Amino acid sequence: MTVTVRFAPSPTGHIHIGNARTALFNWLFAMKNGGRFIQRFDDTDFLRSKQEYADAILYDLHWLGIFPDATEYQSKRIESYDAAVERLKAAGVLYPCYETQEELELRRKIRLSRKLPPVYGREALKLTGEERETLEAEGRRPHWRFLLPNFRDNPFETDRTEIQWQDVVRGEETVDLASLSDPVLVREDGTYLYTLPSVVDDIDMGVTHVIRGDDHVTNTGVQIALFQALGAEPPAFGHHNLLTTGTGEGLSKRTGALSIAGLRESGLEPMAVVSLAVLIGTSENVEAVAKMADLAERFDPAATSKSASKFDPAELLVLNRTLLHTMPFEEAQGRLSAIGVSGASAEAFWLAVRGNLEKLSDAAGWWRIVDQGPQDPVELSEADAGFVREAFEFLPEEPWDRDTWKVWTGSIKEATGRKGKSLFMPLRLALTGLSSGPELADLLPLLGREGTLARRP
Ligand code: GLU
Repeated sequence: MTVTVRFAPSPTGHIHIGNARTALFNWLFAMKNGGRFIQRFDDTDFLRSKQEYADAILYDLHWLGIFPDATEYQSKRIESYDAAVERLKAAGVLYPCYETQEELELRRKIRLSRKLPPVYGREALKLTGEERETLEAEGRRPHWRFLLPNFRDNPFETDRTEIQWQDVVRGEETVDLASLSDPVLVREDGTYLYTLPSVVDDIDMGVTHVIRGDDHVTNTGVQIALFQALGAEPPAFGHHNLLTTGTGEGLSKRTGALSIAGLRESGLEPMAVVSLAVLIGTSENVEAVAKMADLAERFDPAATSKSASKFDPAELLVLNRTLLHTMPFEEAQGRLSAIGVSGASAEAFWLAVRGNLEKLSDAAGWWRIVDQGPQDPVELSEADAGFVREAFEFLPEEPWDRDTWKVWTGSIKEATGRKGKSLFMPLRLALTGLSSGPELADLLPLLGREGTLARRP
């Protein structure tokens, strides 16, 4: 059977680095197993779901390097969920309830005060047909709960009922269905909560592995029971740990914290974001991996820790730098050209400056320096200015290459007696206006003899 995974966000905001982690775990799992990746939008919450968010999520995924094999919307599949509801009703495992939130809250408090677990007591199961009619005549509409299979004969006497699975990430997992309330599957207004549509989709779309955040572990117990109630074999499940901000808060689509769009706009490389999103909170070293295929090779879901991981955006910059420092010109070319870095010398320029960049966009500043000269007035002491003026007398004739710097500074040293920093720093300042930057041996051939002479103080 082809390995089939899905990434199933609700399109109610922009995805953040934590959502990307889920998407990437699925994508890498599919890559590693020659499988399929389905992009599924859980958009049954009609009020909060928006097409523009779905489009933005697809854009973000493409930017990260994820290209789904199919895209599905739950809002287009309501008939399948209606059919599943009929099957569950016919099997007697979906029952109407009429309590308001206030009534439920009150009952919960009473149960707690009696030291009973605060789960739903299935009171609505006791309603007679007549009582239901009366409630409906009062204008109450039912919501529908799934009767969990956690009892032998009497639903009011539950038994410990362990649902067990071999979690792809966490190993052996168990959920006791007797510790849970019967979940509401259909709201009063007839709309669906996430639980049932997800199971119906996973069945219809042939999903073999559900990989998602560990906030869903309990849901998995319920959903495995639902798969069984619908006569289907449950898929394998994997639950990865969640990411938090540096101060330990959860990430939320609503607040926009650490959104993929924001990280992209700040000029980071997608593979820096991908590397950190995948490797953080695992037993693997966090390092910059330049190719998705290489990451897939090392990806092992079972290497993920069970506790939440703090996400430090500063680490992104470190990875970003590392990626840029070895990035081949062909990979950078398109984006360089978009910031005005193009032409015959673009490749040599890139190879000269990449080792000094934090973000690719910083190349534009170096391009200006190479093209036009120092951007701020160069401040040299009188002695240094005199030294630099003299040094320019020894500029070799062209053609220039990487050795020109050595030849030039050799002659300067011989003539002036200066060496080390007192020799090269005034030259660096005169040529670039900055006290640090790319190797002057690499910059010199880019400036050429004429460009270098133009910088003579
Ligand atoms: N829409 C759910 C969520 O975003 C999907 C969970 C799942 O993958 O089943 O949490």
